[in-house]
Amino acid sequence: MKHDYASYISDTAKDLKPSGIRRFFDLAAQMEGVISLGVGEPDFITPWGTREAAILSLEQGYTSYTANPGLFELRQEITNYLDSRFGVQYDPKNQIIVTIGASQAIDLAFRAILNQGDEVLIVEPAFVSYGPLVAIAGGTPVPVSTIAENGFKVTPEQLESAITNRTKAILLCSPNNPTGTTLNKAELSAIAKIVEKHDLIVVSDEIYAELLYEDEPYTSFSSVEGMYKRTILINGFSKGFAMTGWRLGFLAAPKELVEVMLKIFQYTTMCAPHMLQHGALEAMRNGYHEVEAMRASYRRRRNYVVQTLNQIGLDCHTPGGAFYVFPSIKSTGLTSEQFAEELLMQEKVAVVPGSVFGESGEGYVRCSYATSMQQLQEALKRMQRFIESRCPVIRTTP
Ligand code: PMP
Repeated sequence: MKHDYASYISDTAKDLKPSGIRRFFDLAAQMEGVISLGVGEPDFITPWGTREAAILSLEQGYTSYTANPGLFELRQEITNYLDSRFGVQYDPKNQIIVTIGASQAIDLAFRAILNQGDEVLIVEPAFVSYGPLVAIAGGTPVPVSTIAENGFKVTPEQLESAITNRTKAILLCSPNNPTGTTLNKAELSAIAKIVEKHDLIVVSDEIYAELLYEDEPYTSFSSVEGMYKRTILINGFSKGFAMTGWRLGFLAAPKELVEVMLKIFQYTTMCAPHMLQHGALEAMRNGYHEVEAMRASYRRRRNYVVQTLNQIGLDCHTPGGAFYVFPSIKSTGLTSEQFAEELLMQEKVAVVPGSVFGESGEGYVRCSYATSMQQLQEALKRMQRFIESRCPVIRTTP
């Protein structure tokens, strides 16, 4: 007999919408010959040294829990890494938690700081999980839209005009998913003034910090003057180290905040998997040259994809980082959903409609270039054919 579950489901869970990215994955998965530019993960397999260390750990019988915040040696390596790469100093004893992906670190941050109805400003277009995670923690996500004409950079004025007396935090993500936009030190410093003035916390998602293609060094928000004490720094192994399936991330924050997040983590998770932490330890100790090689490869592909998209009539700004481009499809007259769906049906290329990343993403699609050059060339050829068939007025250059 069919049971009616609706009355058991919490209002918060009921209100969550399934991720718009998934819908396209599911559609594409049912078709043959699809080239996917939809996925948000590296096309590289985790470097061998990292995998070997995890295998060895298992062979040696490291199958127990670790300390709640993670292996001390790994936390030490993480603090060395944050110091040497970004110039921010944390204490491995009480300022780091090794989490189940950056995803869990973001979840912990919101759960630790939000009361019912507290508002979090989310710079959009934004990664799909921020809004739902704020809502799950009882808060209210407040979108702050950015525009292509400004390279999708948020301005301090935009942030300030969205602040109310319920605003508790700002979620920043640089380099950004889906736009690839990167905020430099001067831009972050201008935002810091607003953060200080309104006494806010910043959850800084720095998961793409290693995937940066311009010469300017990366600025971690916690290194901006006065922001160390106001930043929950989120990072992890998924993107730069090509370790998405390992589900390992970390957070770094003032110890008073880490203490609270650790309480939640203790009860929900206990610790990240022991043997995988040994793999991550090896990645941090000896794997950095592989990160550099992967970065160089993404940079070549970014340059190719941006140039070709502009040639085929889809305006595309040059993103500073991550592995996404976010071209405008406005010239086609289609909505981003229509564009993605029709491109998939007609030419078997999967991209993600910009609208899933917030209202300001409408008129754009996200294409990931974390796939082989050969696949990219074929995908762009198909996209050109699609555009020419739909909009013969758009003149594309071969
Ligand atoms: N933040 C952003 C901006 C992302 O794009 C992703 C993954 N797509 C995550 C966080 C989650 O990363 P993880 O695999 O470490 O949970």
